[in-house]
Amino acid sequence: MKPLRAARSAALRPYLAPGVFVACLIAAPFLLSEFYVTLMNYIGLATLVVLGLVLLTGVAGLMSFGQQAFVGIGAYVTAWLTTAYSGSPWLGLAAGLALTGLIALGLGLITVRLSGHYLPISTIAWGISVYFVFGNLEALGKYNGLGGVPALSLFGWTVDTGRKSYVLIWIAALCALVAARNLLDSRAGRAVRALRFRGTMAESFGVDTAQLKLVIFLYAALLASLSGWLYAHFVRFVSPGAFNVNIGIEYLFMAVVGGASQVWGAVIGASLLTLLKEWLKDILPKFFEQSGNYEVIVFGLLMLPLLHRARDGLMPVFARLGRNERRGAAAPAAAPALARRTRPGAGEPLLALNDVRKNFGGLSAVHGLSFEMRSGEILALIGPNGAGKSTVFNIVTGVLPADGGEIRFRSERIDDLPARRIARRGIARTFQHVNLVGSMTVLENVAIGAHLRGRKGTVAAMLRVDQDEERRLLHEAALQVERVGLSAHLAEATASLPLGQQRVVEIARALAADPVLLLLDEPAAGLRFQEKQALAGLLRGLRAEGMSILLVEHDMDFVMGLVDRLVVMDFGEKIAEGLPREIQSDPAVIEAYLGGIE
Ligand code: ADP
Ligand code: MG
Repeated sequence: MKPLRAARSAALRPYLAPGVFVACLIAAPFLLSEFYVTLMNYIGLATLVVLGLVLLTGVAGLMSFGQQAFVGIGAYVTAWLTTAYSGSPWLGLAAGLALTGLIALGLGLITVRLSGHYLPISTIAWGISVYFVFGNLEALGKYNGLGGVPALSLFGWTVDTGRKSYVLIWIAALCALVAARNLLDSRAGRAVRALRFRGTMAESFGVDTAQLKLVIFLYAALLASLSGWLYAHFVRFVSPGAFNVNIGIEYLFMAVVGGASQVWGAVIGASLLTLLKEWLKDILPKFFEQSGNYEVIVFGLLMLPLLHRARDGLMPVFARLGRNERRGAAAPAAAPALARRTRPGAGEPLLALNDVRKNFGGLSAVHGLSFEMRSGEILALIGPNGAGKSTVFNIVTGVLPADGGEIRFRSERIDDLPARRIARRGIARTFQHVNLVGSMTVLENVAIGAHLRGRKGTVAAMLRVDQDEERRLLHEAALQVERVGLSAHLAEATASLPLGQQRVVEIARALAADPVLLLLDEPAAGLRFQEKQALAGLLRGLRAEGMSILLVEHDMDFVMGLVDRLVVMDFGEKIAEGLPREIQSDPAVIEAYLGGIE
């Protein structure tokens, strides 16, 4: 009986911390004074906003200083509709979310695609302008704001006290937390988690990163707007001061303090800073002997040591205390296999490059390169360092645009397609510089490879109606991990693996895409002798199943014993092409390689 009980307690462990949290939430209004219940309401309201920022900033890497403006829109729309037109608060909610959605889409379409500082700067500008709009519109009561906002009413239950608002606010916050957690643990969520540092890789496996960023921006804005709606009907009054730019910065502080990359960090950050702010508001004016917003200064000063000592915020510290292990540790359950692509017959023309060129400034990295590849062969692309091999991979997979020439895949031109559309046609690759999401497990990383074999999006993931497909995707990923011999590391974060094994994880991820053509950039680098032999065995097995492989590799023993043909490049040009034994005795090749060694 004992092992069973141990297994059951292990299965329940992930639910322990959230369970205790929910129990505390339920007990709180019975135990706390009115003052603290009100404070808890503010924490819940902030949690909604900060949660959006966690997804946007912490996970997807997009910085916004303008979330308070979305809160303001949610609050003002309902305050205005319910006071000036005696409209229903529910109409206020719908209108607030609709307006927020429209604005966020507009703002996002302009800025999210642009990289770098555009989004932070435009959100600052947007936040400032919304503040002045609130403060200057006669209809919105200018800087005095709007009073007399009615209480909410739910099936005859009037939410007119702090304790009643508490129920509503925390139900909303909990739902949002669970939805965000569900999202991050899904097909769409894995893509979101790749956005920040691995956008190119995500595109190479079919993710539309610009669209996904827009969706996350929209979701964060809607959460903020919902928070504003709850706020307006809880406080029953709105004024511009609550949506000032410094409030937006406080939200960011909360996200950073809690740990911007983790969902529960939103609760921790919102709680700590709300409590701290309240406390500072009490003592600082006494200290300075006049009133003012001194807490912002203290927040700023506290941020420095925090970022220095605990870069990922306090959430990891809490997680360590609570031994809160990430889920997904065990191998996924068996599930029906995913559909596979139809493959070309052996020997059909597969890939053809014709006079392909690529320049980097004055450097001609690929110079009039042409070669062809037939279905079912393993072709090696070799040459000294800097010959242009990786650049060829980047052009074929759409990561870089060619400057000239034609590329055909299964007789159709692909040189004008973006990476994600090329991926859709059945080309999958590995990267010379390992391109994994280090904080994600081996299984999750490999599942990104199967992105295009699933359909379910962000909303389905939040509502957990994606589970059939999710099981099939994870099962497929687990099969590919097993195929490359890394099953023992399924649940480990890829960052903890040696570099050689990380390369092998990349191969599994490419295989999970069910490709017709596999592009491997130095797959054997960093592997030990036995591992190289295992890899060669794997690639031979794949060829026997009809896979075509284009391979860049420096280990000539590995290459010559494996491949059908070789193309040799030097200084961006093809200097030889042929069977392994022809290449080995080719004077131009020997010259290029000897030159390389010198
Ligand atoms: P290989 O993979 O054969 O070692 P690469 O294709 O990586 O060679 O590089 C070919 C040449 O192009 C090198 O001289 C390299 O420095 C240059 N290069 C590659 N990528 C870039 C880039 N993004 N910007 C500028 N130069 C680049
Ligand atoms: Mg290279």
